[in-house]
Amino acid sequence: MAEQSRDDVTMTFRANSELPLPLRTEGEDSTRQKNWLERLDINDFDFPYLDSLLKESYSDLLLQQPTFPEPYQAGWFLANHLGAILMSQPLIQLNDDNQPIITSGLAAALERQTTMLVTEDAGAYVLSPVKTRHNHETFAILGFYITEISESQFAFAQMMVSTAAQHLMTCFYKRFEALFVEDLLNAQNQAKREEQRRAMLFQVIQRLSDKIDVDSVLKEVFERIAGMYPEARAELLMSQDHPSRDPRVRTLQLQGEHDSICVRAFMDGVMLWEDKQRADGANYTEIAVPLIGKQGTYGVLHLFLCDEIEEADLQLIRILGDTAGTAFENAKLYEQSNLLISELRLINELVKRLNQSLRLKEVFKFATEELLSIFKAEYCCISQLDQVNDCFEIMSSNVPGLFKEFFPKDYGFNGLVYSTREPIILSDYQAYGKISSKLMEETKSRSLIAAPIIVRGEVNGAIMLAHREERFFSYDNYKLLQVLTQHIGLAIANASLHAEVRRMANRDMLTELYARHYLNESVQKHQGKDDGGSLIIVDIDQFKGVNDSYGHQIGDKILKQVSSIIRDTIRKTDIAARWGGEELAIYLPGADVESGYQIAETIRLRVASETDPKVTVSCGIAEWTRDSEKISVESLFYYADMALYKAKNNGRNQTHIGLNPEI
Ligand code: GH3
Ligand code: MG
Ligand code: MG
Repeated sequence: MAEQSRDDVTMTFRANSELPLPLRTEGEDSTRQKNWLERLDINDFDFPYLDSLLKESYSDLLLQQPTFPEPYQAGWFLANHLGAILMSQPLIQLNDDNQPIITSGLAAALERQTTMLVTEDAGAYVLSPVKTRHNHETFAILGFYITEISESQFAFAQMMVSTAAQHLMTCFYKRFEALFVEDLLNAQNQAKREEQRRAMLFQVIQRLSDKIDVDSVLKEVFERIAGMYPEARAELLMSQDHPSRDPRVRTLQLQGEHDSICVRAFMDGVMLWEDKQRADGANYTEIAVPLIGKQGTYGVLHLFLCDEIEEADLQLIRILGDTAGTAFENAKLYEQSNLLISELRLINELVKRLNQSLRLKEVFKFATEELLSIFKAEYCCISQLDQVNDCFEIMSSNVPGLFKEFFPKDYGFNGLVYSTREPIILSDYQAYGKISSKLMEETKSRSLIAAPIIVRGEVNGAIMLAHREERFFSYDNYKLLQVLTQHIGLAIANASLHAEVRRMANRDMLTELYARHYLNESVQKHQGKDDGGSLIIVDIDQFKGVNDSYGHQIGDKILKQVSSIIRDTIRKTDIAARWGGEELAIYLPGADVESGYQIAETIRLRVASETDPKVTVSCGIAEWTRDSEKISVESLFYYADMALYKAKNNGRNQTHIGLNPEI
């Protein structure tokens, strides 16, 4: 073909995977109007690559060519531009070089128009060149052999073969154009896929970086995959428990599946893929892409793609994995920081409110209410260690049967928390079976979180939260309870300390009786609301002498013994106090002077017999009633003191009743 037309090459294509054919168009001027496909042609550079296309065209021709009528015997054959036979019908006799018996004519036919060669056995070969459509160069030869042909039929035979050669050329160009169009379509499809990939990549990067919650990131990954590979099956295997309503998000099982492609991809942090075959023979590719962020690998995207996979697809999926890993990490960090902030707020609020009260009872009640609401738990129990009885007491609970109950130190989850000093998370009590717990049994609970209350390094109690649903509490709940328990423990310690200080402020250290000011205040309070009451003053006889004979320490011991006898004799509601020195006072709310006398006498007699070394006491009693004209603490004490004075003067070790002139 002419050299100048090389510039007109528009495209290359592959013919049946053979070498590429450079294609050229005809001169521009005359063909501008023509269909561009029709302008495409082959030239002598292309000829060596045409064999397979020629064979297909020849087959097309034979299908359409009418068979030769009986009694003639005839056959077609096809040779390429070099005269080599490509295909032939059985009738054609070939020599050892695979050539028809009359090879010389074949070569000649290349140069000329349709040629006829008569054979010795009255048969004839008719050969017709097949030419290119524009430059009319011979690129193949169509041959025909017929037996017993008469001379009158020569012209017809030549015309027939030349027409068939034309037909073959049409068949050839039809195939040629189809091939070209197919290639073009392939190229177009390829471009379309490339464009889709780019669009997906763009969307992935843009949309994933916008997402700030973990679930949206995961949803986005699925959507992008479905958009690009509609036939694909995808799942996400997360390395940590990630609660999701999407059934395609599961936990990556690392144990027992070391050879799975997903575990290997996760462990090695690289994308892996395998070409596989389904039971029905269809091919698919299994791909595992790790989701990697800066701080770790979060899971594996597991894909089954039925579509044909190219290198570009794998690259795309790899980028998707990387982007999703980073987006997942960012979203997770964002969620975690939000969680931390809300936890801090919660702790701050709780601590503030816990500190508003210094009353132990209120602290327990408030902590129970808050914990139930924070953790959405159904049941709560707060226990404290009772040092004296060496057991746990339930200080607060919304389970009625448990409040104020006592349990041995090694019982239930309380006992476990006490012995291990560690918090507990239990997802299913029924399946656990190692420990029996009244809290869990009575409430039919299955989930539990518990934490020890540690005060000054010692386990002082425990907090337990329960729910009837299994797996109700999360690991985050468990960690948060630990933090909150520390604060609740501090509040309990503060309130206990405060109560102790209050108790001590009202007590006399030596005798452990109330202090004088407390007695004064109590009498005053009672006088404000009661109808009457009595006061006994107890004074140790000749106490100075006891000190002198035995020393101050023994004196103190006597003082304690007398105090103990008093405590032992009076009712819980009576108030005994150290009035000053070796004088003790007892207020008996609601008691008249007679019953006061009985008590004073009991005390006096017990002191005389129980103290060691022996001492005696003298007692003075006075009473007040609602009818008294002047009701005051001072007058009550005055009359009791007067009575005591009388008892002393009368020889000691006796009880006298104060004569209140108004009674
Ligand atoms: P009377 O029978 O008249 O009450 O004689 P008395 O010696 O008990 O009375 P007095 O008021 O003369 O002396 C009281 C003594 O009690 C003086 C003091 O040494 C002693 N005393 C006061 N408080 C304490 C104390 O806390 N411990 C000791 N050991 N002695 C005390
Ligand atoms: Mg005395
Ligand atoms: Mg005295």
